[in-house]
Amino acid sequence: MHLDFLNLGSGSRGNCTLIECGNTCILVDAGLSCRQITSRLISAGKDPARVQGICITHGHSDHISGVGKFCADYNIPVYCNSITQSFIALGVKKANQKMPEFRNFNTRDCFQIGDVRIETFEVSHDIGDPIGYVFQTGAIKIGVVTDLGRMTTLVQERIRGAYALLFESNHDLGLLRNSSRPWRLIQRICANTGHLSNEQSAEALNEISSDGLKVVSLAHLSEECNHPDLALNAVLDKLQGKDIEVKVAFQEGPTWILPKDFDV
Ligand SMILES: [Zn+2]
Ligand SMILES: [Zn+2]
Repeated sequence: MHLDFLNLGSGSRGNCTLIECGNTCILVDAGLSCRQITSRLISAGKDPARVQGICITHGHSDHISGVGKFCADYNIPVYCNSITQSFIALGVKKANQKMPEFRNFNTRDCFQIGDVRIETFEVSHDIGDPIGYVFQTGAIKIGVVTDLGRMTTLVQERIRGAYALLFESNHDLGLLRNSSRPWRLIQRICANTGHLSNEQSAEALNEISSDGLKVVSLAHLSEECNHPDLALNAVLDKLQGKDIEVKVAFQEGPTWILPKDFDV
């Protein structure tokens, strides 16, 4: 069976990822505009009408801003926990959009969409009930973990054994500390409930790197306080000698995390 793992854009101006396996097609987050999601799907050779649902990680606008319109246009449901639902519902009401159909779960629930089994787990981030996802199809497990201030044993356990990961590498600590950003914002980003630095991301990936990990796409890179080369070098340094492909997901366009012709 064919498996596509494709990031459509990642960063503080919007996040959206496609997972397609056999007849199952899912988005994770919809923080780009509906128009952008649609055009990026089409540019990657994907039919937006095939999407069967959107799994949401948390209620920050860079993860939910396109949910209302995309769900209304393509008549698809949203999978999320109840706190995230309340953030989405608020945005949809404000924008006078049609309320999507919500399929609620509790964090740590597992559920199935078509051929894909989905695990949810909490991450440490500064909003109510934020989560990460692991998707299992056949013998292959892939994960989407962004927006977390620190690694926890739980996250490590859940992503251990993943073949491919979209994983946060938000900032270079030096660039962040020397940036012109207000001190309070710097503190927020560095906090345990903020975002992972390149070094933290490298450390976390190294911890699980011996358990079948083959592909990592670094995600949610800060445009002001990071650079793809800095993130890549930090992670490649730690993973030296290991057979793991490391790439970067960009804000402005699609990144194929797994090769286009990947089969499970
Ligand atoms: Zn975010
Ligand atoms: Zn966030």
